[in-house]
Amino acid sequence: MSLFRLGYLTLLLACPWWSAAQEKPSLLYYLPAIAYDPAIPTPASYLGYEVGTWHVTHDQLVGYLRELDRISDRISLREYGRTHEQRPMLCLTITAPENQARLEQIKALRHRLVTPEGSAMPDIKTLPAVNYMGYSIHGNEASGSNAALLVAYYLAAAQTADVQQLLQNTVILFDPCFNPDGMQRFATWVNSRRSRHPSPDPVADEFNEPWPRGRYNHYFFDLNRDWLVAQQPETPGRIAIFQDWHPNVLTDHHEMGSNSTFFFQPGVPSRVNPITPVRNQELTARIGEYHARILSAHNVAFFSGENYDDFYYGKGSTYPDAQGCMGILFEQASSRGSQQQTDNGLLTFPFQHSGIRSLEFT
Ligand SMILES: [Zn+2]
Repeated sequence: MSLFRLGYLTLLLACPWWSAAQEKPSLLYYLPAIAYDPAIPTPASYLGYEVGTWHVTHDQLVGYLRELDRISDRISLREYGRTHEQRPMLCLTITAPENQARLEQIKALRHRLVTPEGSAMPDIKTLPAVNYMGYSIHGNEASGSNAALLVAYYLAAAQTADVQQLLQNTVILFDPCFNPDGMQRFATWVNSRRSRHPSPDPVADEFNEPWPRGRYNHYFFDLNRDWLVAQQPETPGRIAIFQDWHPNVLTDHHEMGSNSTFFFQPGVPSRVNPITPVRNQELTARIGEYHARILSAHNVAFFSGENYDDFYYGKGSTYPDAQGCMGILFEQASSRGSQQQTDNGLLTFPFQHSGIRSLEFT
């Protein structure tokens, strides 16, 4: 099932293909050892450093994705807006080349689905599913946008039959950064404050950004409250894409406190908006079973069904829930810098769960 398969991609930074003896991340730390198209540049070959060793800046992220768009026939990129600070808002449409040639036709068929007459059309099984993947709307929750480099590479370069089938059956709307100004502010802070020999002490300068921190946009607005009112320039273009495609699933990737583990929705049942259909929560929980299985197989601690509301439709993971789409919030414990000491041990940016693992193994 293609949507379940996509769920795996959301866990890349949290659930790498682990080698306990490995001290520095490599591409195969994050991704499975399968055949990749050598014509597609890896993130490290473009950036000059491996993902997770430094915090990617927004301009670097944009440069890499434009390069993938230039080379890969699986990707079409468009700029759908500009931030207050004139950074581009990007959405990549990632799907099989045959689907790239008929995007307008797929979209038109999906529009029929939202009418009572159209929803009974007979060819629904041949219509690709649409998954909207969005990263780091809070700019100092950086693992999302950094993982986006790897997810985009994987989808562009993987040569296996299952990835080709995934791309045949799915159109992926891929937004690498919902909050470019905040992300750039945070990346600049942590990269400029880190030492040659990193200090993991939580009181170190690196982990204590000055106000307004990277969470907000240029005018200190929380963009994860703007999906309903759409008052900031980052939002309207994104809402238009959502309404243009009627995605089946929207994934919304965040970070939470450093002493936590990993969370995915559904959230607290008593804090779900009563307008949201029960079926929406049932399907969200069913997809969650996939995440639980993968994380458990890798001995990664997680929780679900506790904490985090699904009430206010101005949030990215709730806005879709009233519109025939499943919005799913993911929260990763944040190292908030290169590496930080936590209640669960040392939490590093690329090795997010190393502390948890060592606790479990003792
Ligand atoms: Zn957040």
